[in-house]
Order: sequence, then structure tokens, then C-alpha cells
Amino acid sequence: MEYENSKVNRRQFMQKSAVAGAGLLIANQSGAFAQSVPSAPNGNIKTRGYAARDASGKLSPWEFQRRPVGPDDILIDIKFASICHSDIHQMKGHWGPQQYPQVPGHEIVGIVAAVGKNVTKFKVGDRAGVGCMVDSCMHCDHCEHGEEHYCENGETLFTYGYPDKASPTGITQGGYSTNIVVRDHFAVRIPDHIKLEEAAPLLCAGITTYSPLMQANFDVGDKVGVAGIGGLGHMAIKLAVSKGAEVYGFTTTPSKVKDILAFGAKEAIVVDDPSRLAPYKGKLDYMISTIPVQFNVAAYSSVVKTHGTFTQVGMPEGMSLDISAIGMAMSRVNFNVSLIGGIPETQEVVHYCADNRVLPQIQMIKAPQINDAWDKVVNKEARYRYVIDAATF
Ligand SMILES: [Zn+2]
Ligand SMILES: [Zn+2]
Repeated sequence: MEYENSKVNRRQFMQKSAVAGAGLLIANQSGAFAQSVPSAPNGNIKTRGYAARDASGKLSPWEFQRRPVGPDDILIDIKFASICHSDIHQMKGHWGPQQYPQVPGHEIVGIVAAVGKNVTKFKVGDRAGVGCMVDSCMHCDHCEHGEEHYCENGETLFTYGYPDKASPTGITQGGYSTNIVVRDHFAVRIPDHIKLEEAAPLLCAGITTYSPLMQANFDVGDKVGVAGIGGLGHMAIKLAVSKGAEVYGFTTTPSKVKDILAFGAKEAIVVDDPSRLAPYKGKLDYMISTIPVQFNVAAYSSVVKTHGTFTQVGMPEGMSLDISAIGMAMSRVNFNVSLIGGIPETQEVVHYCADNRVLPQIQMIKAPQINDAWDKVVNKEARYRYVIDAATF
């Protein structure tokens, strides 16, 4: 027995040494290291999550490892991760072939469990969130000006499925898991006056709509359209309403009309046929579409006034959209596509939503319900963001 104990102690000591060498401040200095940070003998961090195994996109439990906490890293004990349609698209290979097993999830919130020696942004016990990216070159012009998602050196590292030499699995692994190691710059603070589970969807749905809405620079009272009222769209309505716009919500789902009005929109329009858009031709100052499938872009754009702007943020299968050139020419609307938003702006939207009570409408689920929830997202039955309790992974 004594021998066994000393073996355990020696192993724990080696774990401590390995990680301390990487500059780690241990979460619970006086307690057993293995209890506060689930470390593997090689110094990696042990993690449980739900992974896709192939392009069927069916998720199942998976134990894997993350890199040790480096000098600029933090370890987040994940509390909640929410479901984005992008998770489904990517796991099913809609955006290109994938490496499996792969853990999706880029709306991640939790509590900081460890920090590297250079980290000043966070301390153990802080609330933190991670969105769509986890690293970049950090020194190009875009990275230095808060547009890390447009890293000029092409080093933007997205949260799951991207080649990552530092990851024991060779790719980044996302937030449907018990913990994540991330460079501190790519985590944002979650203030105390918002529930963690309500903050999670802000990390993608929030920033992805907030960034182009802010870029549109509309005035109070301007008419703003939102097309596609799911996880992103319902946040777009709430954000635009909160910023003083007169909002028009366009949906293909009649049962969402009541919700759209409850979110603060002036009108909810059911577009069961493109002809439903005709009465609104040239009426809106700006429009954002979150529609994640092929749709009639020219017809939707035509509701924006001439020389106005239409922003697409939904990303369909194959990552391309068919657009009628003549249809667009007839309305002369500026069309652009927006990806996400940078880290400073992500921090901004989290504070904005917490301060102004602009909160996502969420449905809590346990890990074994994820596959069903994904089906509901695809079938437009989500109302409006599923949030997974990470304690159930
Ligand atoms: Zn997303
Ligand atoms: Zn860069």
C-alpha cells in the first residue's frame, strides 16, 4: 500500500513539475493538483466531450487531451456551450472534408481554472468566454487592430477542426467539452450581471450579428430588416431594436411571427413565396440575412433602398451563394458577406448585452440530447438557442 501511495505521489509530483515548467499557476496550490486540473502523465489536460466521428455528424462521448497550459494560456473549466448551425454544417462536411473525431462548439463559457505565468487579463476563478477563434499571428496590422479574424498572415485559428500543431489531436477541438486551453487574448470576460448560460450564444450569434449591425451605422428610427430568424436572427432583431432601429423580421416559419414581434420588431413578414417581399421594395435602410441555405438573394436585397446595404452572415452548404446579377443590378444594393467579429468587438457585445439586458432566448439541454437538438435546429424547430450543460459531458 505504501508503495502504491508513493507511486501516486511521485506521479503527481511529475505532473506538477511538467506543468510548472510551462509557467502554470495552479488553481488550488494547497490541494491535490490532479483534483483541480485533470492532467495526463505527459502534462496534457484531460478532457471529456462529444465528438463527431464521420460526416454523418452523429455525436458521441469522447475522451481526449488538450495541450498543457502555456505561459500565455488560460485553462477554462467549461460550464456551458451552445449550439450554432455552423457546428452542424462543419461536422457534416458541408464546408469541406473534415478530420474526425472532431468536437464542435464555438459558443463557450466557463470559469478560469489555471493561468500561464504571462497572463494578466485573467485570474483563477474569473468568468470567461471563447468564441469562433482561438489564436492568430498577433502582430500583423489587422491583429493589432482587433480584427484577428482577418489576420494578414493567414494565421487565424478557428475554434474547431483547424490544423493545430500544439493540439495533441492535430486539430483544434471545440467547446462541447469539459475544458479548453486557449491563449488569453482570445478569451473575453463575462461580467457578473449576465448568467453564464445566457452569455454563451453571444460568442458567435451575438458578435456575428452585432459587428455588421454596428458597421451599418444606422440612425435611430432607420428601418432595418432581419431575414432568417434563428439563433443569429433573433439576436439581430434584439440588437437592432436596442440600438433604436425600426425592425422588420422576415421568416419562412409562420409560428415564429409572435416571437418576432415579442423581440421588438415592428413587423413580422412570412416569406412563403418571394412575391411576399414585393410590398417592401426599396423600403429598408439596411438588411442582414442569417439564412444558412440557398435563397433568392436578389429578391431579399430588393427590399433595401437603392445604394443601401445588404449583409449576408449565414453560410450555406458549399460556402457559396447563387446570386442573380440582373436582380441585384435592378436594385443597386451593396451586397457584402460578414464572417464574425474581432476580439475587442466581441468583448464589447458581451458588455453591451449584459448592460442593456439584450439576452438570447435559450433552451437548456444535457449532452445526450445534442443529436436531437441538432435535428431540431436543421428543421427550424429551435427556439432559439440550445445551451448544453457541460456538467453532463
Ligand atoms: Zn457560430
Ligand atoms: Zn495577424
